[in-house]
Amino acid sequence: MKDSRYDILFEPVQIGPVTARNRFYQVPHCNGMGHRAPSGMAAMRRVKAEGGWAVVCTEVCEIHPSADISPHNEARLWDDRDIPALARAAEGIHEFDSLAGVELGHHGFRAQNRISREVPLGPSSHTVVSYDPVQSRAMDKEDIRNLRRWHVAAARRAKQAGFDLIYVYAAHGLTTPMQFLSRRYNQRTDEYGGSLENRARLLRELIEETKDAVGDTCAVPVRICVDELVGPAGLCSDGEGRDLIEMLADLPDLWDVTVGDWSNDSRPSRFGEEGVHEEYVSFVKKITGKPVVSVGRFTSPDTMVSQVRRGVLDMVGAARPSIADPFLPRKIEEGRLDDIRECIGCNICAAADNTYTPIRCTQNPTMGEEWRRKWHPEIITKKESEDRILIVGAGPAGMECAVSLGKRGYDVALAEATTELGGRTAREPLLPGLSAWGRVRDYRLGQLHQLANVDIYLDSEMSADEVLGAEFDRIVLATGSSWRRDGVARYHRIPIADLDDSGVFTPDDIMAGRFPTGSIVVYDDDHYYMGGVIAEKLRDLGLNVTLVTPAAIVSGWTVNTLEQPRIQKRLLEKGINIAANQGLAGFSGGAAKLACAFTGRETTIEAHSLVMVTARMSHDAVFRALTERQDEVREAGIKSFSSIGDSLAPGTIAAAVFSGHRYAREFEMDASDEVPFLREISELGPW
Ligand code: ADP
Ligand code: SF4
Repeated sequence: MKDSRYDILFEPVQIGPVTARNRFYQVPHCNGMGHRAPSGMAAMRRVKAEGGWAVVCTEVCEIHPSADISPHNEARLWDDRDIPALARAAEGIHEFDSLAGVELGHHGFRAQNRISREVPLGPSSHTVVSYDPVQSRAMDKEDIRNLRRWHVAAARRAKQAGFDLIYVYAAHGLTTPMQFLSRRYNQRTDEYGGSLENRARLLRELIEETKDAVGDTCAVPVRICVDELVGPAGLCSDGEGRDLIEMLADLPDLWDVTVGDWSNDSRPSRFGEEGVHEEYVSFVKKITGKPVVSVGRFTSPDTMVSQVRRGVLDMVGAARPSIADPFLPRKIEEGRLDDIRECIGCNICAAADNTYTPIRCTQNPTMGEEWRRKWHPEIITKKESEDRILIVGAGPAGMECAVSLGKRGYDVALAEATTELGGRTAREPLLPGLSAWGRVRDYRLGQLHQLANVDIYLDSEMSADEVLGAEFDRIVLATGSSWRRDGVARYHRIPIADLDDSGVFTPDDIMAGRFPTGSIVVYDDDHYYMGGVIAEKLRDLGLNVTLVTPAAIVSGWTVNTLEQPRIQKRLLEKGINIAANQGLAGFSGGAAKLACAFTGRETTIEAHSLVMVTARMSHDAVFRALTERQDEVREAGIKSFSSIGDSLAPGTIAAAVFSGHRYAREFEMDASDEVPFLREISELGPW
């Protein structure tokens, strides 16, 4: 039952000519599907509406080929042929009485125009934001008139597609109206440059013209950046950001307020708590009479209520919390707070967009799979047999598998070698900045406690003999992995010969409380978060730490999770030495031998201990033993045995959760060579 403290979250909100049925607002967010996978995108948005979000928006929607941000897969309304794909999303959202929003956008000199090959446009001539050898040209008056025309045309198409909210997008430093606003980017001397009033002219025109075109039935929200986080050199909430809101106070139908660029807006949990933007955003509602929405990785209904009651926000904006749990509003409404799958702030979802692939989520394995695998976040088919299933290992893969099989109604036993559940999601949250990642374990622990048909056995390391004697129909091995000590990863594909392993540690040692002493080299050839986190942990213990990596930057893959610059900054500020572009050539006698990744030239640095953050080895001994003892497996009546998660192949926590979930959904299916999901295939045109 709903707790009356949360009633305020379920009040309707008027947004221009439309009414949202509650205060839950899924702000625009990318998803790696966009115009390339519109069925998938629409099904994902539809599930959000079903889950209770009163407003569900698309990702940014390119309005014209002069701002083509491919290979990112965003929505498109370049011409009428794009309408049906977006209409599908609007239709799905309307099915559950939610409002459909579309974020029209033109990306100025952020767009490299890799597909359209148009020359990028911008307020002034700038190099594009990426390293593409491309520069924009400064828009002349004709270009500005064209942009306004394209925006109105796209707005009309959006209305035709059925959208209720049609955005003007001036945020994240990367859209043309935002580039006009910021004096960093706008060096014009005409009536579109100079004073703030002039720099805001384009934005004002776009708002007014969009309202004229579609405002009779559609709301026109503005997504705005009130603080670029560069001080007075840009918009800031105690300077021009505030002046701008005062200037346009009641012109849009809603203010969707952002701070900084995307990496700040979607601040990883390592670098920001829930509600991190409040100090920058809270002034807006004091100025405008229009509804205000903003994000802050809100997962706690108490925080949401507090934001509304204290007059910070009218609507609770969310991208990531709605990805991790599309049913978050419904769960609050039904008083099922323990069932909320809270976002952990890892930004694996953002990494999908940044690697041009359909969205995925660490907490929600069904995200991005709604259409192509027909996976629903809250519904799973009931069991098809009386099979009893033994899962060995209770890391994220084993726990997710147990929860999902348990929800299907199977009798499940979950055997874990140690005295606690969680595997890596019990250990890693103890490392600096990763505490929120413990939610992966906590959510599943809560679900397991509700499932009477899942028995948990702690302190129960299973050998192959024990598995064979356990009298189960199906065996799932989710036994995880451990970090290698021999240096094998990307730089070395065979073990390092010149290695005195008496001083070698791994992240598993550090997580178990076995710490090195003296001067330490952390050798990172993994390139995700672990190397940086281990370096931080050891530095926090007061040790002298040098992070050595063959890459040019630390934790290189975290560029995709929007974390990298903050990680490198933090390491430098903590006094960790960084030796980039260096492979590890050897280690012994208090020294590490490094080799330049380009020339091979060797240097030596002092190192009493070495922490190898390289690759991991699967714990596959039981699986291999069963493979070799097939006759005994058959005699024991075991119908199948499978390896999932890191024990099959080490990967991300998201991959382990997905693997566990997939087993639970698919294990009765016959193995087949067919592609295991629906594909969206482009139509061939005539010759
Ligand atoms: P994953 O990410 O694939 O879930 P983890 O390494 O996080 O993998 O978790 C694997 C879990 O399996 C650990 O908690 C580990 O203690 C447990 N485990 C490993 N081998 C056995 C075994 N033979 N019997 C029972 N539990 C095991
Ligand atoms: Fe949150 Fe991580 Fe899921 Fe993104 S991938 S929604 S950050 S849990």
